[in-house]
Amino acid sequence: MLEPERYKRQILIEGWGQKTQDMLRSSTVFIAGAGGLGCPVALNLTTAGIGNVRICDTDVVDVSNLNRQFLHPEKNIGVEKTASATQYLSSLNSAVQFTPLTELITEDNVADLVADADVILDCLDNFEARYALNKCAIEKGIPLIHGAVWGMEGRVTVFNPPGGPCLSCIFPVASSTQETIPVLGAVTCATGSMQAMEAIACLRGFKPSLQGKMLVMDYSAMHFQTLEISRNAECEICSHL
Ligand SMILES: [Zn+2]
Repeated sequence: MLEPERYKRQILIEGWGQKTQDMLRSSTVFIAGAGGLGCPVALNLTTAGIGNVRICDTDVVDVSNLNRQFLHPEKNIGVEKTASATQYLSSLNSAVQFTPLTELITEDNVADLVADADVILDCLDNFEARYALNKCAIEKGIPLIHGAVWGMEGRVTVFNPPGGPCLSCIFPVASSTQETIPVLGAVTCATGSMQAMEAIACLRGFKPSLQGKMLVMDYSAMHFQTLEISRNAECEICSHL
């Protein structure tokens, strides 16, 4: 497929051009989670023409995922989410190189899973794996784009110390997570799309707008606010930077 034609409409965006498109094609992203946030993140980055997409999840598709995890069709219930997601994503953009990783993210394997990614997208729902990603991002000097949802609220920030805080500066201890959180597909889709936009900003070589800031979106009132977030000088993870 002719690339300039395929990406014509985004190449028209001011300051984009073929050069930006080439940068995206030579980029690698690591998407942690193929669920509510991971689906819109992967969809947006795949169709934008990111060259290499590494996507990691251990779950299989469950019927209760289908209200929001739109890369997974009904027929894939019981199928590994990474396989299900990459099957669909490949049909959208066959030029993208997908690496499905069906592994639990731990401190021991995270560096290998992330490999040479230029950006990490945190689309997870548990803090243990998030802390492992945070440490790895700092060690490799990779921006970590954090997303979270709860009910009608979504949050996005970019951790990229020393330019702003890391995950542990803001959440030094894991916040308790309810087993089954309320969540709506439109909320995860909007929030994941914000994460994808910040990833693209990083890959274009721009400072992401949400570095050092937390975007808090209350979709029930369409009230969006951007809060300043600061580094913790005592942070055990990033204060050496
Ligand atoms: Zn920190």
